[in-house]
Amino acid sequence: MSAEATNEGAPGRKRGRRIDLRRLGRAALSGSGARGRLPDAIDHVAKVHRSHHPGADLGILGRAYALAESSHRGQTRKSGEPYITHPLAVTLILAELGAETTTLTASLLHDTVEDTEVTLDQVGEQFGAEVRFLVDGVTKLEKVDYGAAAEPETFRKMLVATGNDVRVMSIKLADRLHNMRTLGVMRPEKQARIAKVTRDVLIPLAERLGVQALKTELEDLVFAVLHPDEYARTRDLVLAHAGRPDPLQATAARVRAVLREAGIAAEVLVRRRHFVSVHRVLLKRGRPTGADLGRLLVLVAEDADCYAVLGELHTCFTPFISEFKDFIAVPKFNLYQSLHTAVAGEDGHAAEVLIRTHQMHRVAEAGVIALGNPYAAPEAPDAADGERADPTRPGWLSRLLEWQRAAPDPDTFWTSLRDDLAQDREVTVFRADGGTIGLPAGSSCVDAAYAQYGDGAHHCIGARVNGRLATLSTVLRDGDTLHLLMSPDTASGPSPDWLEHARTPAARIAIDSWLAAHPAPEPTAPAPAAPPAPVPPRPARRSGAPAARGPVAVVAEGEAPPGGSVRLAGCCTPVPPDEITGFTVRGGAVTVHRAQCPVVGRMVTSGRQPVRVRWSSPDVAGTGDYRVTLRAESFSRPHLLADLTEVIAAEGAAVISAAVEPPHEQRVRHTYTLQLPDAALLPELMRAMRRVPGVYDVERAGRAVAAAPL
Ligand code: MN
Repeated sequence: MSAEATNEGAPGRKRGRRIDLRRLGRAALSGSGARGRLPDAIDHVAKVHRSHHPGADLGILGRAYALAESSHRGQTRKSGEPYITHPLAVTLILAELGAETTTLTASLLHDTVEDTEVTLDQVGEQFGAEVRFLVDGVTKLEKVDYGAAAEPETFRKMLVATGNDVRVMSIKLADRLHNMRTLGVMRPEKQARIAKVTRDVLIPLAERLGVQALKTELEDLVFAVLHPDEYARTRDLVLAHAGRPDPLQATAARVRAVLREAGIAAEVLVRRRHFVSVHRVLLKRGRPTGADLGRLLVLVAEDADCYAVLGELHTCFTPFISEFKDFIAVPKFNLYQSLHTAVAGEDGHAAEVLIRTHQMHRVAEAGVIALGNPYAAPEAPDAADGERADPTRPGWLSRLLEWQRAAPDPDTFWTSLRDDLAQDREVTVFRADGGTIGLPAGSSCVDAAYAQYGDGAHHCIGARVNGRLATLSTVLRDGDTLHLLMSPDTASGPSPDWLEHARTPAARIAIDSWLAAHPAPEPTAPAPAAPPAPVPPRPARRSGAPAARGPVAVVAEGEAPPGGSVRLAGCCTPVPPDEITGFTVRGGAVTVHRAQCPVVGRMVTSGRQPVRVRWSSPDVAGTGDYRVTLRAESFSRPHLLADLTEVIAAEGAAVISAAVEPPHEQRVRHTYTLQLPDAALLPELMRAMRRVPGVYDVERAGRAVAAAPL
């Protein structure tokens, strides 16, 4: 269908009826009061829109609906439904994501110029230049990717067609989502073709624009079409868990109690993973547990609360530090902000936790769509950071347009684009037996071993990557072929150093629990049963075990609780010869604080009975288990966290917990609780941390993880 039809009796009559726009316009405007009555069909969209934008002008939506409805009248979709149901559904998707009125108006009209007699000029006259511009962009975009695969020219034309306005892409994404939802009526070959374009072009686009809600639904729809067997397997797995008790709900209840006790107002939710995400877990871990099927989402009011929540979680639960990521201090390319961590949940399995403010959540779900009218004055004056200053052109889009201008030919442009879209993606590794393993980027052979063999990976002794012998620490790249070498000796086990090369929680948990069950002789003997070759064991380096299995160098005196374990509190990390006080906590364990830790005062005030504890021997610091909390002050920059933790690991210290406070005037404070094999290593460790670019001070902290905001 062409877009050149006019309303003035063009010979090439199209499916739609001829309509009198002036009469329609009058009809839409007539009715009671200034706002008029909205047609029933648009009522729901209007209500949803008002919930996001209380002051929105609904009249223009009514008029746009009236024009779209009358011009599409008589047309039907393949399913037999009236055509108008499509623009209406697309508009509802956008309204639910909080899109502003101009986008919704253009969305109602998005197929009129393409499929009816309505012309662009008429849209412009009735709804203004901005709506005209958006409708024009969507119309052009439709012509670009219809039937085309993800070829360089396709993307290039798409970008030109959108006129650099991401609102055009938002409409396009919602349009594609509704078409994917209703794909079932198409022939299978056509379904597959549309699903592939969605996978190659639209999903990366949704990812880049940060529109998580659209991206996840599109992923599941594509998954069902292109991989029906895997989809069914995943669905069955999810259904099988549906009737069982949910370990995440139990962990959520504990998190709520902890935050309530700490006086932090927060909403704690359990979020189900979408099917594709469950499938990735399935590939990674073989057999996911109930805790793998969702994540905890903690929503708070202020940025600083995010770090307070993190502090409490890392104090009161056993954290998996490798899972900690700070996307608040260093936001992702696509506006996404959150803290990510994982803690040992109810059943010992890692529960992933996302911590964000309500506003961050809105942006995480709706991306650029949540940012409102890009032409309105910015709400917050602090638009200094270029990536987020202009919502119509997030940083990557500007870069893309630069490349497009600068690229000598489509191939070069396409290569840059594909590399850019591939960032933060998973890597797929081919197994010797022909299967594949999906792993997060940065994963090593250790991760792959546990992904493939589960606990059987304890007996892994080496690897061939692309046919060559490689150490287990080798980081795998997309497309590598991996052959894991297994020891026939089932008594062999992982070296503690494997923890340094394990990026996935599955591997870390498995290694941790093996090490806990097979403690190394104290204190400096080389690890027993260390596997031959690949990873040379580092002497005196202990497992880096989480706090719950910390040193039992403290004993409770008097009426010691029955069989309770003793752990050192993460908030003040007492070390000998500090004066210490203990409190019995849930399950009979005793938590030990420094006597002057503020928590002690709070506990006593709230009526908790202190338990007397003492260090078991005066020279306990020499036994190879020395803990210390260090605070690093530095200038905020990307990769700072990664650089600091790398230096810490290189100095032989294990990170027990970490906290990063929000940057303040370009400065950021990191607080680490570390375990060292020997206290004598501390000065060199602190010197090494000070050498990290950007760091200007490192000092021992009295109080650690639950650090207050600056
Ligand atoms: Mn459409």
